[in-house]
Amino acid sequence: MSIKIVDVTEEDTITCNVCNCTFDTNEITTDDFYFAWDNIVSTDCCRSCSEKLSKWKYIVWVGGVDDYYTTYERAKKHYDEWVAKGYDDVIIEEIGK
Ligand SMILES: [Zn+2]
Repeated sequence: MSIKIVDVTEEDTITCNVCNCTFDTNEITTDDFYFAWDNIVSTDCCRSCSEKLSKWKYIVWVGGVDDYYTTYERAKKHYDEWVAKGYDDVIIEEIGK
């Protein structure tokens, strides 16, 4: 059973932490938006972003810009490329950890 977001939050609008889209809590339900406290996603986000997040396993951050990867091998390859280019603020983050 889906319930409206307005029933689980005091807010009139809610913002996806991933795509930054804002939704009217009166118009969407808990099927359309996922909260970090549900333990399905690591941050509050909309349904399409949650699908993206569950598919991508690693993020490579280069100076605050994020790139998503499905395997550690691919993430590490790109990480090494950025480091070889001289960037020193490169981070591999495992999603959901
Ligand atoms: Zn989103």
